[in-house]
Order: sequence, then structure tokens, then C-alpha cells
Amino acid sequence: MKKILLIHTGGTFGMIPVKPSQVLAPADIKDLILKNLPDIKKIARVDFKIAFNIDSANIQIHHWRKLAQIISENYPEYDGFVIIHGTDSMIYTASALSFILRGLNKPVTLTGSQRPLAFIRSDAKSNLINSIELATLKIPEVSICFGTKLFRGNRTIKISSTSYNAFASPNFSALADVGWEISLSPNILSGGKKLILKDDFDSNVFSFRYFPGLSPRYLEYLIDSPAKGVIIEALGMGSISVMENSLIPWINQMTNANKIIVINSQNPYGKINLNLYQCGKMIKDAGGISASDMTVSTSIVKLMFLLGYHKGNLEKVKKNFLKPLAGEVTE
Ligand code: ASP
Repeated sequence: MKKILLIHTGGTFGMIPVKPSQVLAPADIKDLILKNLPDIKKIARVDFKIAFNIDSANIQIHHWRKLAQIISENYPEYDGFVIIHGTDSMIYTASALSFILRGLNKPVTLTGSQRPLAFIRSDAKSNLINSIELATLKIPEVSICFGTKLFRGNRTIKISSTSYNAFASPNFSALADVGWEISLSPNILSGGKKLILKDDFDSNVFSFRYFPGLSPRYLEYLIDSPAKGVIIEALGMGSISVMENSLIPWINQMTNANKIIVINSQNPYGKINLNLYQCGKMIKDAGGISASDMTVSTSIVKLMFLLGYHKGNLEKVKKNFLKPLAGEVTE
């Protein structure tokens, strides 16, 4: 039987209503799972580890490091890892782990639920059972298992705060579909040779969403700020106003101040093309770089990762931004 390490980090999944107000609070996860899901023993030998127990809104970079550390310490002993995580920041943790865990050759699957495990009609049961089963298969990537799908973690976005199909992967097909049978995609990564952790994130990044009427005045403070890079959620294929309230002079000032400007799209589907429209061309000429078809959250995490990895060498960061590290961008 395969051995799976189940790592708990918190979120709705393991919460129970506490008297008198019935507010949801963290519970003893091992007890809860063994009581509600004794059948997991039929799928694999499962051990439990509590990394921390928090609402995922509180996740910080040191939490990603801790998870990677736990995986690395237990790597030889287990065939796969399942991480129970709050859904709210799950995509960020998945992206971060996909970058930290260089040379990964075993499944690392994140899951969670919309309704707590202890509640009737909860999605926690099927999500956990599917995740454990998928973590016994040859899927050597960081993935997110939710509803009937397994997605590549760094390609995933959260699309619903209530639906049992809470996630989607707009620019990359699912790694697995879970129905009567489990069907695996041919696009699963082939896995590395030796696990090495790279976890020098640099959090000096900023991100904002462009909208018609945005005044560049509000962005001026970034020029002298410690931010080394800014991710703009632009319109369409990478457009912003270049007429009234033009951001081009600000982009010029930012790049002259040695800061990276990354252009993502507000549209989840499709990719950035800075060669098609005049706006895009002007961004490019001012020094902005494309995030291609990466998700916004992955762009943010990747920028922090590369700034740390290349010790602030901006030319190297720019050069490597569109090189896939873990299948996060289409070449
Ligand atoms: N607020 C919760 C969290 O992300 C929501 C969830 O678990 O789905 O931790």
C-alpha cells in the first residue's frame, strides 16, 4: 500500500461550530478525519501532520517555507503528500510550492472544502478521498484537487466562494478528471531527479488592477518605494490608457528607477500580446514585460521567487520570467 502524508494547515475543512455562538473554529483534525472518513485507510497508509491551523487569509511566505520543509524532511518516507488548506489563498501556496520544490518527483496535492467536514452534505469527504487516491498515482507535480478535477496548482484560479467547483484552470487543461474512473491528462509533468528547496522569496513586489480613470498620481509613491517589481492587471491582451491619464510616463520612470513592470490581463482566458496594439507596443517600449498566459497570482509569486532566486539581479529576473519552472506558462 502507498504511504501518504496528510499535512493540515487549517481552513474551513477542519472547522467545527463552537457553542454558544456556533462560530466556526479549528478542531482536532486527525480525530475528525478518522471519525468521518475511516475509509481512507482502504486507499493508502495515511499519517497526519499539523503544520499550522489557520484561516488561509493569514498565510505568509514563511508558511510556504514551513510546508516545503515538512515535505522535504518526509520525502524519502512517503509516496505522496496531501495538504489540507483553506481555499482562499490555496492558489498562492500551490504556485509557491511549485517553485520551491525543485526536482519534485512525487505528488503534492492541495485540497480543502467549501463546507466543513463535520457538516452534512460537505464536499470535504469527496475532496479528501479523491486527493488521497490521486496522490498515490504518478502525478509528480503540485496540484489542486477540488470537485471533480485535479488542476496544475500554478495554473489555477479560484472562481467561486460557495460552489463545490470552486477552481478553474483557464489556460491549461485539467491534470485529471474524477468520475466513475480517474482519467489522467497526457500533459502531466514528468518529474525531476532530486528534490532541492529554493525558498528565497523577495516580497518587495506590488500589484494593482488598471481601470479607466485611474490617475497615475496614486502610483507615484512607488517610484521611490522599496518595490522592485509591479504587476499590472491590464485590460485585454495588455492594454492601459496611453492618452488621458496615460501610465506610460510612470512606466518609464519606474523602469528608469530599476523596477520591473509585468503586464498581466484581467481576463482569465488568453494571453498577453504587447505587439498587437499601440498601447501594448508603448508599454513594451517603456520597459514593461509580458506575463504571457500566466495567472495573476502565479505572476506575483513568480516575481517574488525570481527576485529572491536571482538575488535582485533584475536583468536575470526579466530574462527568466517567461521560462517555465513548473509548467506555469506556455512556451
Ligand atoms: N476562509 C477560509 C480559508 O481560506 C475559506 C476556506 O477554507 O475555504 O481558510
